[in-house]
Amino acid sequence: MTAANFCCRNLRHLANLIEERRGGAYGAVILGVLTFCLGLSLGSTVTIAQAPPNVLIVGWDGVQRGHLKEMISKGEVPNLMQLASEGNLVAIDILGNTETKPGWVTVLTGYFSEKHRVRGNYHWETIPVGLTILERLEGYYGDENIFTAMLHGKQGNMNGMEERWIPVDGWTKPNPPHTAKMREKDSIQYWYVPRQQYFYTKDNVDLFKSYLSKGSPLDNMNGKTGEYTLQVMDEYSGSEQFAIFVQFNSPDKVGHKRGENSQEYTDDIISLDYWLGRFVEKLKELGVYENTLIYVTSDHGFNEGKRTHNDAPFVFLATNDESVMRRGYLVDIAPTIYESLGINWEEFEPILDGRPLNEPYNPPTWD
Ligand SMILES: [Zn+2]
Repeated sequence: MTAANFCCRNLRHLANLIEERRGGAYGAVILGVLTFCLGLSLGSTVTIAQAPPNVLIVGWDGVQRGHLKEMISKGEVPNLMQLASEGNLVAIDILGNTETKPGWVTVLTGYFSEKHRVRGNYHWETIPVGLTILERLEGYYGDENIFTAMLHGKQGNMNGMEERWIPVDGWTKPNPPHTAKMREKDSIQYWYVPRQQYFYTKDNVDLFKSYLSKGSPLDNMNGKTGEYTLQVMDEYSGSEQFAIFVQFNSPDKVGHKRGENSQEYTDDIISLDYWLGRFVEKLKELGVYENTLIYVTSDHGFNEGKRTHNDAPFVFLATNDESVMRRGYLVDIAPTIYESLGINWEEFEPILDGRPLNEPYNPPTWD
C-alpha cells in the first residue's frame, strides 16, 4: 500500500467516526493522523527531490557593457537574451584593476585582490588553496559527487604553471615570454615568470585546461574552446553533478587588435552568443538543462572606442537563475552562486567580500 492510500483510508475511517459520534476527543486523533499523513507526504517529497543544481559559468573576456547594450537593441545576441528571460540580465561594475588576471579570480572567489592576491596581469601571487568556487564545491559536495572543470581559451593570464627561468640567449621570438621580467642568476640572463595564480587551483579541480584556442585564426577563435566544452559536457554531465567554468578569450584579443567599436569585436560577441546557444542545446539534449544554473559574465570591459581596457569597469551578468534581482559588483557573483545552491557562504574563511545578488542590499549612506 502506498503512503497516500494508507492516509486516504484512515481519513475515510475518521470521517465515519466523526459522523457517528461527533466527540471532542476525536479532534486530537484527527490531528494526529493528519500530522502523520503530512509527515509521509513531506517524506516522499524528500525522496523525489532533485539532485543539487549544476553550475556553468561562461566567461566572455573583455565584453564592454555599452557595446553589449547596442547589440541587444539590434537583436544580435538572441541566446543571451533568451537565457536572461528565464532569469535576469543585470549591470555589473568592477571595483579594482580592470584586467584579465584579477577579473576572473574575483569572479571565481568573491574576494577582492587583497584576499585572493591577484592584483594585476603583471602583479600577482598564487591564489591560496580552496578559495575558488570550484574548489569550495568539491569540498561541500565531496569529490566523488561532483565533477569540476576550468577550461580556458587563453594561456597567458589563465594558467597554473610553475615559475619559469628561460635563458634569454635561447629565446628566439621577437617578444619576451608573457609577463616575463629579466633576471640574472649565476651571471646568466633569464626571462623570469613567477608561478601562476592557478598553480594550486589546477590540482584541486577534476579538469584544468588552458590555451584551448591555440592556433585559431582571429576570425574564429571560439570554435575550439566551444567544441571542447561540449565534449566535456557529453562525457560528464549525465553521471554526476558538475560545475564548469569556461573562459572565451576572443573579445579581448579582437578588441586589442581592432578596437571596441570595430565590426570584428561585434562579430566575435555574436559568435560567443552562438556558442552559448550550443551549450544550452547540449544541456537540453542531455536532459540536465532544467537543473543547471548558467551565469554569463566578463572580467573587464573596454575603454570606449579604444584598443585598451585600463579604465573599463562596466560589464554585465546574464543568467537563468531567477533569484538574481539586482545589479552589483564583480565580487558579488560568487556569493550569488553559493546562495542559489543553498550553501552557507557567511561561514567561509576569510569572509567573502561580495553580497549575493539574490537579495536586496542597501548599504547605509553614511553610518
Ligand atoms: Zn586585454
